[in-house]
Amino acid sequence: MMTRAVVPGSFDPVTYGHLDIIQRARRLFDEVVVAVLENHSKQFLFPVEERVEMLKEVTRDWPGVTVDYFSGLLVTYMKKVSARVIVRGLRALSDYEYELQMALTNHELDEEVETIFLASSAHYSFLSSRMVKEVASMGGKISDFVPPYVEQKLKAKFKERG
Ligand code: ADP
Repeated sequence: MMTRAVVPGSFDPVTYGHLDIIQRARRLFDEVVVAVLENHSKQFLFPVEERVEMLKEVTRDWPGVTVDYFSGLLVTYMKKVSARVIVRGLRALSDYEYELQMALTNHELDEEVETIFLASSAHYSFLSSRMVKEVASMGGKISDFVPPYVEQKLKAKFKERG
């Protein structure tokens, strides 16, 4: 039986921290669907199409990894793609409460759905999309945080915003 896991998130934009989690999830499951959240209360820098496009580009040569987007409840999306496992990355303690709340809520909504957490690699445990955007907006060096393709997109985005 093929095992399929979903790695959901905002990916605004995708960083090496996300890619590490996606790659490690792929070692545990035959198929990994990266699911980009379309609608959210927070404001995104990149519209969903661009977040999906960047992820597709940087995972292009990764067999067993596909990129999709979803809106609404994650458990509804899980049913749609016939997956039962959600994989999330855990960084510092600060991620823990929010992640636990989400995992418990999703399990409450659909008891078939389980969330597993992969501890962030030490090297990326400080890395977040928010931090990357902040550094990029001030013209700082982000090549250690995101792939070159994403770096270009960030630069273009801040140029266009002025
Ligand atoms: P969200 O806005 O839903 O938290 P993100 O795009 O920020 O989505 O993150 C998606 C997933 O990737 C989350 O599980 C998050 O914890 C994880 N993640 C983000 N950055 C890192 C990192 N540097 N190392 C490990 N996991 C990370």
